[in-house]
Amino acid sequence: LFSSDEQELYMLDRMAHVTVLMAACTFFTLLFENVPYGRYASSKYGFPVDVKFAWFVQELPAFLVPLCLVAWTTAAKTSLLPNQLLIAMYFCHYVQRSLIYPFLIRGGSVLWLVGWLVNVHSDHILRNLRKPGETGYKIPTGGMFEYVSGANFLGEITEWAGFALAGHSVHSSAFAIFTAVVLTSRAVAHHKWYLAKFEDYPKSRKALIPFLF
Ligand code: NDP
Repeated sequence: LFSSDEQELYMLDRMAHVTVLMAACTFFTLLFENVPYGRYASSKYGFPVDVKFAWFVQELPAFLVPLCLVAWTTAAKTSLLPNQLLIAMYFCHYVQRSLIYPFLIRGGSVLWLVGWLVNVHSDHILRNLRKPGETGYKIPTGGMFEYVSGANFLGEITEWAGFALAGHSVHSSAFAIFTAVVLTSRAVAHHKWYLAKFEDYPKSRKALIPFLF
């Protein structure tokens, strides 16, 4: 007989293993196909959905489900400092609010914070490329875009790598691996797309990792 804590951990372990397996399958799928949204949108998979609504529906469970789980979790778990830090990092990302506990930052948390700042700053740059009513694409400049085409993706990958380092578990690592697989593919695809579309695209700019890749 197993305690409920052991059963929960067993479930989490299995789910993390499935996530890593899914990351491997996704990696191979993405070698042949870009995720069909944004510039790669296609009617092949169904009718188009309003972008704001789609992001809202996609991200809401990632915010609400953990929120409910945290509310139902016993105080013995949520009173532990490392758990509180991980929960704060997670929700900070999904509601995009400021870091509440800067004085507690350490180790992987710093990496997470750097990644979060790069991600938010880069998304801000992209959001402001178009004037109201414009729909085309421009060459992004400033911030980490000076070094890589996928600056927003680099930020997000760094963020979850820091989260995994701080979480120090197979579960947070599985999430970081999955995110890295999806966003690396998107960064490489965007980079190739920019090079093909813009003759004056900066030649020194890399896809995802400054100066290297
Ligand atoms: P993109 O860079 O493809 O697009 C972001 C926004 O900027 C879109 O509105 C896009 O318009 C616009 N944009 C991008 N490039 C240009 C350009 N050159 N000129 C004008 N406008 C531009 O990012 P994603 O949509 O893939 O992702 C958005 C955020 O979500 C990122 O921070 C990413 O890290 C995160 N994300 C996280 C995932 C995860 O697994 N954790 C998975 C996917 C995304 P348009 O839509 O018209 O192309």
